[in-house]
Amino acid sequence: AQPLIRVTGLQKYFPIRGGILGRTQAKVQAVDGVSFEVKKGETLGIVGESGCGKSTTAKLLIGLVEKDKGEIVFDGHALGERLSLKDLRRGVQMVFQDSYATLNPRLTILDSVAFGAKVQGLDNPEELARKMMDRVGLDPDRFAHRYPHELSGGQRQRVNIARALAMSPRLVVLDEAVSALDKSVEAQVLNLLNDLRAEFGLTYVFISHDLNVVRYISDRILVMYLGEVVEVAPVDSIWQEQAHPYTRSLFSAMPSMDPDNRTKEPPLAGDPPNPINPPSGCRFHTRCRFASAVCKEAVPKLSGLARNGDHMVACHLHDAQSGHPKAGQGVPE
Ligand code: SF4
Ligand code: MG
Repeated sequence: AQPLIRVTGLQKYFPIRGGILGRTQAKVQAVDGVSFEVKKGETLGIVGESGCGKSTTAKLLIGLVEKDKGEIVFDGHALGERLSLKDLRRGVQMVFQDSYATLNPRLTILDSVAFGAKVQGLDNPEELARKMMDRVGLDPDRFAHRYPHELSGGQRQRVNIARALAMSPRLVVLDEAVSALDKSVEAQVLNLLNDLRAEFGLTYVFISHDLNVVRYISDRILVMYLGEVVEVAPVDSIWQEQAHPYTRSLFSAMPSMDPDNRTKEPPLAGDPPNPINPPSGCRFHTRCRFASAVCKEAVPKLSGLARNGDHMVACHLHDAQSGHPKAGQGVPE
């Protein structure tokens, strides 16, 4: 399938004031050189610790945050060239975690769902809103005139999904969209999202800290560390083999991982380094037990594994030319 969205070298640094009298302008390197594509009809899961740049990547995709550098190509058109920010915002909708805070408490559910469609000047926004409410499992006769505080968390998240769908998006970015829900409600909303994807031909970017949830809904998984992509692979392939040492640590920390597939990686030591002044070379070298001299100097490039070119990793262990003493052997057990 064709990529619906492709980002290349995406970069976003956030300036912060620091130092004496707030004079120095340090920058948080939130997203630094991120490239990936999402094919039409696919779900790409994005995982990583908090602060790794997942949410900033999401906001860049929808145009909520302006990129410093890089290219965003949506449906064949580059942002800033044949694609305006307005076009991008129309084609890409986002569903956030905090379902209560994202809904206007003074609007009825119907008005909330119809809001975007009204702003866009679409015909019959209320009829459309009722249809979308029905489609996400909220009976419009019962829920149209209620207010957000009268709904459960799962119902409010259905409202957010209906509101996004009313804009006829092509891509929906879901940032921790089910993370606040109880497990049983979470499963219902995930199933709903799967059904809607098929019915409306949607493409998803699904961001979550929960690897099991990401596995369930995604076709491919992208792993971020300190603003960079360290691994991206089809779900089955990464479940079988986590090629990057960071990914291994992330997966081994999962409580419900199959014992058969569980790596024996020790848990990650310490906190992630400061994103204002990230480590040189491979940013993971300060926490990686396979780090060698080359890791501190050279930035590893994202490239396909020999056994599966669709499984990409940025680590010198997998690059025979890197000078890493263990390169070519993969990650030693
Ligand atoms: Fe570890 Fe080196 Fe691979 Fe980075 S490049 S993950 S430091 S082995
Ligand atoms: Mg986040």
